[in-house]
Amino acid sequence: MRHIAIVGSGPAGYYTAEAAVKQWGDQVRVDILDALPVPFGLIRSGVAPDHQSIKDVSHRYELTALADNVRFIGNVMLGRDVSIADLEQLYDAVILATGAPEDRALDLPGERLGNVFGSAAFVGWYNGHPKFSALAPGFASDTAVIVGNGNVALDVARMLARSPAELVGSDIATHALAPLSASHIRRVVILGRRGPCQIAMSPRELGELTELSRAVPRVDAADLPAADAQAGLDTTHRKALAQLGSFAAAARESGPDDVSIEFHFHAAPRALLGTDVVEGVEVERMALVDGEAVGTGETYRIRAGLVVSCIGYRTSAIAGVPYDEAGGRFANEAGRIGDGLYCVGWARRGPTGTIGTNRPDGFSVIEKVAADIGAGAGKDGRAGFDALARQRGIDYVTFADWQKIDQAEIANARSGAPREKFTEVETMLAAASRD
Ligand SMILES: Cc1cc2nc3c(=O)[nH]c(=O)nc-3n(C[C@H](O)[C@H](O)[C@H](O)COP(=O)(O)OP(=O)(O)OC[C@H]3O[C@@H](n4cnc5c(N)ncnc54)[C@H](O)[C@@H]3O)c2cc1C
Repeated sequence: MRHIAIVGSGPAGYYTAEAAVKQWGDQVRVDILDALPVPFGLIRSGVAPDHQSIKDVSHRYELTALADNVRFIGNVMLGRDVSIADLEQLYDAVILATGAPEDRALDLPGERLGNVFGSAAFVGWYNGHPKFSALAPGFASDTAVIVGNGNVALDVARMLARSPAELVGSDIATHALAPLSASHIRRVVILGRRGPCQIAMSPRELGELTELSRAVPRVDAADLPAADAQAGLDTTHRKALAQLGSFAAAARESGPDDVSIEFHFHAAPRALLGTDVVEGVEVERMALVDGEAVGTGETYRIRAGLVVSCIGYRTSAIAGVPYDEAGGRFANEAGRIGDGLYCVGWARRGPTGTIGTNRPDGFSVIEKVAADIGAGAGKDGRAGFDALARQRGIDYVTFADWQKIDQAEIANARSGAPREKFTEVETMLAAASRD
């Protein structure tokens, strides 16, 4: 028998468990630990609340979770409740699927002013992640600046631009629905250091902006490359450029309730301005030299009372695990960290790719585990974990407990919404123990 611990129950964790079950059938026992009492990682707390069909991928993970030889062990945090050494003693392989939950810093003057947030915090807030439920961003200003040119920037822009009627049917946390519904923001500026040919925004997410009742996307046609400069681009980038071109052609006057979404390319923030709460952003115009953004020295200011940086994430370091500071993830070679210790998903490769990208990751790490551990070394596995949990007074949450939380969230939903998430660990635990 092989005993495997997977730490993290997001896409990477569940695809890896699926791969383990495919590899060994009933000759493996898999325990999936998560710091939260609820599973599925960023499917629950990252993917935008208005993208419910994407969140449906969790049903696939449920099939794996319900296999006899796979357990969910929620509310157990590696580094707080158990250590790497504990897990290595009990399991033949320990696979870290802990994602990249920390915001990359902007490293700019004024970054600590009020109403300046990283996207992990801001997105976690509207998605009801317990760590960020008390964030309380303000929406009294008429302008917000978003830093970054990826899909997370577009998610945030959409959430700022949707009308109250367009938000109410999503699973946005009610603590975010009320302030966003009363928001005064009517101008959202998205800053990208490089140009439209370098964006990481998908054409589909760009196109979604045209479906919002009050969003007016604005692109300066002068920023768009001539047709012959697009020759070397892949299809995705060409489609994205076509979408930006249609924004440039179709922009209309904004009405009082409209929210204009301005794309500022070749524009890097240099300082966040203000004394207590942010009041503006100083921006430097950039030029592209050999594909890299280089400052021109020319600056301009945007008056803004909310700033959200969407510039990427870092994996949280864990005592005893080698860390790659430059990459912001665990130091690893194709998923292998050291003897019996592996990583997958964002913890392995950084915050790139789609949900589906984590599946081949999971399958490839299980191939390595299979080559390394043979038939298993007769470790104690889950029986040993349960003994340790009893000894330390760790009262973990099972998948059946999560199903109770799930049912309670669905029962508590606002009219038209799929669920009302519990946003505190205590209320999650209370729902789990309800009869
Ligand atoms: C805002 C946002 C929106 C996105 N939208 C989309 C989208 O629409 N479509 C798409 O394809 N992709 C999207 N993605 C990308 C997708 O979410 C990721 O590819 C995927 O979630 C990465 O999976 P993961 O399992 O590596 O990490 P995660 O999903 O982050 O899962 C990590 C898990 O580990 C747990 N954990 C962390 N530390 C510990 C610890 N010390 N002990 C125990 N447990 C721990 C966490 O609680 C979490 O459950 C989005 C990402 C973000 C940030």
